[in-house]
Amino acid sequence: MRKKSNSPVLSNSNNTATAIKVEDDRTGMSRETLKRAFLDNLFYIQGVDQSNASKYDYYVALAYTIRDRLLHRFLKSVETYKKNNDTKLVCYLSAEFLMGRHLGNNLVNLDIYQEIKTVIKELDLDLEELLEEEPDPGLGNGGLGRLAACFLDSLASLEIPAIGYGIRYEFGIFHQLIRDGWQAEVPDNWLKFGNPWELARPDESVEIKLGGHTQNYHDNQGNFKVSWIPDRVVMAIPHDTPVPGYKTNTVNPLRLWKAEASESFNFDAFNAGNYDRAVEEKINSETISKVLYPNDNTPAGKELRLAQQYFFVAASLQDLIRIHLKNNPSLDNFHDRIAIQLNDTHPAIAVAELMRLFMDEHGMGWEQAWSITQQTLCYTNHTLLPEALEKWSVSLFEKLLPRHLEIIYRINHFFLEDIRSWYPGRDDLVDQLSLIEEAEEQKVRMANLACVGSHAINGVAALHTELLKKDTLKAFAFLSPDKFFNKTNGVTPRRWILLSNPALSQLVTEKIGDSWLKDLSQMKALEKYADDSDFGQQWRDIKKANKETLAQYILKTQGIQVDTNSIFDVLVKRIHEYKRQHLCVLHIITLYNRLKRNPDLDIYPRTFIFGGKAAPGYFMAKLVIKLINSVGEVVNKDPDIRGRLKVVFMPNFNVSLGQKIYPAADLSEQISTAGKEASGTGNMKFAMNGALTIGTLDGANIEIREEAGEENFFLFGLTADEVYQRKAEGYYAMDYYEGNEELKGVIDSIKDGYFSHGDTELFRPIVDSLLYDDPYMLLADYHSYIECQKQVAITYRDQKKWTKMSILNSARMGKFSSDRTIREYCNEIWNAKSVKINLES
Ligand SMILES: *Cc1c(COP(=O)(O)O)cnc(C)c1O
Repeated sequence: MRKKSNSPVLSNSNNTATAIKVEDDRTGMSRETLKRAFLDNLFYIQGVDQSNASKYDYYVALAYTIRDRLLHRFLKSVETYKKNNDTKLVCYLSAEFLMGRHLGNNLVNLDIYQEIKTVIKELDLDLEELLEEEPDPGLGNGGLGRLAACFLDSLASLEIPAIGYGIRYEFGIFHQLIRDGWQAEVPDNWLKFGNPWELARPDESVEIKLGGHTQNYHDNQGNFKVSWIPDRVVMAIPHDTPVPGYKTNTVNPLRLWKAEASESFNFDAFNAGNYDRAVEEKINSETISKVLYPNDNTPAGKELRLAQQYFFVAASLQDLIRIHLKNNPSLDNFHDRIAIQLNDTHPAIAVAELMRLFMDEHGMGWEQAWSITQQTLCYTNHTLLPEALEKWSVSLFEKLLPRHLEIIYRINHFFLEDIRSWYPGRDDLVDQLSLIEEAEEQKVRMANLACVGSHAINGVAALHTELLKKDTLKAFAFLSPDKFFNKTNGVTPRRWILLSNPALSQLVTEKIGDSWLKDLSQMKALEKYADDSDFGQQWRDIKKANKETLAQYILKTQGIQVDTNSIFDVLVKRIHEYKRQHLCVLHIITLYNRLKRNPDLDIYPRTFIFGGKAAPGYFMAKLVIKLINSVGEVVNKDPDIRGRLKVVFMPNFNVSLGQKIYPAADLSEQISTAGKEASGTGNMKFAMNGALTIGTLDGANIEIREEAGEENFFLFGLTADEVYQRKAEGYYAMDYYEGNEELKGVIDSIKDGYFSHGDTELFRPIVDSLLYDDPYMLLADYHSYIECQKQVAITYRDQKKWTKMSILNSARMGKFSSDRTIREYCNEIWNAKSVKINLES
């Protein structure tokens, strides 16, 4: 690289006379240094110059330019944590991290977005176009994975020492195509052209054992011991992605593990001349981190999935023990230095693995190992759907993790012994609490394992936590009520407002300053502009411009022309029956049928925008996608409709598409059956960006409505209690169908093949489920939903009123910053404190 003595750039960018370190030169933040670094990277890394570079080449060059500027802070942060001996390290274990594109976010958090935009512009390039070149790393399914990503942003922004641990899937969530109205899945080969954001750390690789059997023995002191003799060993190779905080020096690692064959283990096979076997071993080992299972809220139950879970948990725990023992003489104080949060039960095997490491590998006795394990681990539950609770068959456990099964049996033995002595005769309690489900096939209940092994258990919204205590985990709540916490989810305002809605962000900052970016409750100061007509006009203009941008994108990608004066009525999230996308379809058909009966009816124009992936094996969800597209096909081209209704299904909903959609929404559809959605976080992103919500009293909707004010929220539907009661009484959808002429017309039009070219079979499974077997009770909420939508349209006609409601929604969403959520975890669960990173030391 250039020598500093003859660099004209250096003397320009630095007016101090003192000696300058070489790093300051290479990673300086002056415009000239940035430009020079960018062009150097283009040449030396991509091997092209401005005459033949593609947009992707420019993207990579810029990504390395920014990564270089993160590295000093990253190494300093990690070094600080390793040296520091009296602060807590927060470890977030998650099988999914849905990070979204890094480049734009890193520019925002380093506070150099505008500077870089100018630099790029001086080279006749457009920054936003380069940002679009980055593949969206889709290492998660939906809300749960995105929550983990928002938490990492908040942890670094609050300067909390933290590591995110997960799996470096070679293939993330599939790419969704729509062919003839049906979802088609294409593998997501996101690493095909490399990944400039990650740093492989092969020197910190660890070995992971699998399969085999256990052996008892006595050590030198005569203690009873167990050793695990595996039949396979795979290597876990850490790949670190730096995660910067917003305007802080903190840059935390996201450490993702890649599986590779263990050379030492295969050495025998190679030596014995068994080349084929050694190669096969390599292939088998690498499949562990090959692909993300695309199921949201329904476990796949596959052996490879359990292997994935164990793989990343075992690697992460070994890593943590290594880090701990570098600075501490023993593991006795492990729980004082390290807090481990389990994101759902996917990493729940950590309970048994930590016990195994403490006892079998580090010589600790059972009592102490159990005490430290419990004091270290915390568990977040994410679902109330009974079918979503993970259970692994005992036979699978025996095959893959024989030692862990022994440990789980022993934990269960001591645990149930206590229960029987404290609550004699309470067999019901024992049945509910046992780690083993005694059905025809014995199964390990992962939620129960996580609960006994943790000192803190939390739900993700107030209602969800209440229902966990009352229902799903009631025996645990009875046993240890003090273990239960609520931690209502949040989202980061940096990605979800500043980066995705720059115009709105600029307006807000002009009015109230920029402190809202670090403390979203400051947005309250906007309330005083709620009735200001100039401000209202600016607010509307921004929404309109965001709608224009999305409309252009829809035209370009879908070929559908949408009216930006219409209500943008948006439902984007994973496709699931409990989320009730098909209830929204019933509303569309209701409006359509009204217009067909009376083409001159004065209805307010609407554009219905859908997006979301269905699990590839989830037949009903895929049929719902087909239904949306089929209804769209009829509605969009019916001349009687005169463009007043449009239905758009945007393929491949992911974080980057979300960043385009949330800011352009007028109406946010949050219409799950009450008691089914744990929290939702999409609801928060919409409201922050000024969309009004039509929703049920479910998940965080309840708290959003509380904050926004009930007069600023479109509420409909049964409450969770009413759903429960109605079910107990017996829910007969037919009564609603027979009792509501308009509803009957809507269902009949689907049934009679109106949207399927006369095919009466295609949508029969949906019709049958609605009428005869619907645990989500769509028809019970239909009337209330349609009436509520009528209010939406009436309100929208009053633009002043709508604007005021929109401003108040944005102004009052401070609670839903993930900064607030993380502060609560730090204070009430982790006992973690911020640590300033000093770059000079
Ligand atoms: C926020 C988000 C979700 C979660 O949406 P919900 O409406 O809360 O289900 C899912 N996927 C992506 C890409 C997101 O950004």
